[in-house]
Amino acid sequence: MKYVDEFRDGELAKNISANIARAAHPNGRTRSPLLNPLPQAGEEAIELLRKISDNRTYRLMEFCGGHTHAISRYGLADLLPPNVRMIHGPGCPVCVLPIGRVDQAIRLALEQNVILRTYADTLRVPASDHLSLMRAKAHGADVRMIYSTQDALKVARDNPQREVVFLAIGFETTTPPTAVAIQQAAAEGIKNFSILCDHVLTPAAMHAILAAEGGEVLDGFVGPAHVSTVIGSKPYEPFADDYGKPVVIAGFEPLDVMQAILMLLRQINDGRAVVENEFTRAVTREGNLKAQALVAEVFELRDEFEWRGLGSVPNSALRLRPKYAAFDAELKFKVDYVEVSDNKACECAAILRGQKRPQECKIFGTVCTPDNPVGSCMVSSEGACAAHYSYGRFRETV
Ligand code: SF4
Repeated sequence: MKYVDEFRDGELAKNISANIARAAHPNGRTRSPLLNPLPQAGEEAIELLRKISDNRTYRLMEFCGGHTHAISRYGLADLLPPNVRMIHGPGCPVCVLPIGRVDQAIRLALEQNVILRTYADTLRVPASDHLSLMRAKAHGADVRMIYSTQDALKVARDNPQREVVFLAIGFETTTPPTAVAIQQAAAEGIKNFSILCDHVLTPAAMHAILAAEGGEVLDGFVGPAHVSTVIGSKPYEPFADDYGKPVVIAGFEPLDVMQAILMLLRQINDGRAVVENEFTRAVTREGNLKAQALVAEVFELRDEFEWRGLGSVPNSALRLRPKYAAFDAELKFKVDYVEVSDNKACECAAILRGQKRPQECKIFGTVCTPDNPVGSCMVSSEGACAAHYSYGRFRETV
C-alpha cells in the first residue's frame, strides 16, 4: 500500500537505526565540528571534545500522543542507542484535560439534564467524586460518544425539545470541524445546540514546557503530524530561533519518527537549530489556510487556560467569539470552571511535563490500568501510560 508499507519497512528501519547510532556516537559524526576540528587544534583539545560528546545524552520530546503511541507500538525506543532518550510530551488531548473541565460537563449532564455528546476517550477521563462521564451515565445522565461534530448536530436536530451540548476537546486538528458545526448551527438557526469549548493550542504548550524548564533539559522536538497539517511548520520557528531548539515535524509511521530523530541528531551535532519537515507529504510551511481562516472566524484566544500538568498557560486555548456566544455552553448554562487537584497518587502532571516516565508512578499497571484509569494518561491509546502499558514498554530498564 502506497504511503504505509514503505514507512514500516524493516530493512529501512535497520538502516535508519544504524545511522542514528552513528550520529549519536562521535565516531559516527562526519559533519560535526567536534569530529572535524580545525587542523590546528591540539590533540588534547580534540580528545576533550570527544569525551564531552561521548558522554552526551540527546533528550528529544515527541510532543504528540500519536508519536508516543507509535514509539511504544513499534518498539522504536529499542532501536535507539541508550544516549538517545525520547521524552513524552503533553500532546494527547484527553490527557491534558484537567479534572475541573470534565466536572463541568458532568454537572451539565447530571444537573441541567442536557444531552451531552463527546469523543469516545473523553468519556473515561477520571473526574471528581469517583465520577467520569461514563459513570455519570450510570447515574442517569444522557451521555454518549460521537464520531464527529456532525453527529452532535444531528442529535440537536432530532431532539429540538432538548438542549444538546458537545464537549469539544482537542488540539488544532479537531478545532476546524467544531467551527464548521457552529457555523452550520448558526446558518440553520439551531437554538438547542452549544459547545463546552476546551480546544487547546500546541505552540503555547511548547512555550510553557520550555519556559518551565528554562530551556535546559530538552535538546529538540519531534513536531506533531496532524496538527501541523493545519497550522503548518511556521509556528514552530520561534522554538528554533528564540530557544535554540531544533524541531522536526514527523508523520506517524515508524520510519517517519525514526527519520525525524535522525534529522534532530544531525542538527544537534552540527550546532544548528531550525524547523525541518520530515512529513512533506502532508505538511507545508503555511499549513491549511482555509481551516485557519475558519477557526479564526469562529474562535478567539482565551487569556488563560488550565492544562493538566502545565497549570495555567496564557493564550493557550480558544473560546467562541461574541458573535457565536449563543452556542457557548459555559455562558448559556452559567457553568463555571472550578480548579480541582489531581489524585495524589497520580504522576500524570510530571509525565505531561516530561519530567517522569509512566513506570515511575507507584500505581502504574497495578491500581491504574487502561480498564481502571486513575489518571488521564492511562485513558487514551495516545496517553503515555496507556501506550507503555499496552505495548509492554514498562519492562524497559533504561
Ligand atoms: S499510571 Fe495512572 S495514576 Fe500513574 S501517572 Fe499514569 S495515569 Fe496517572
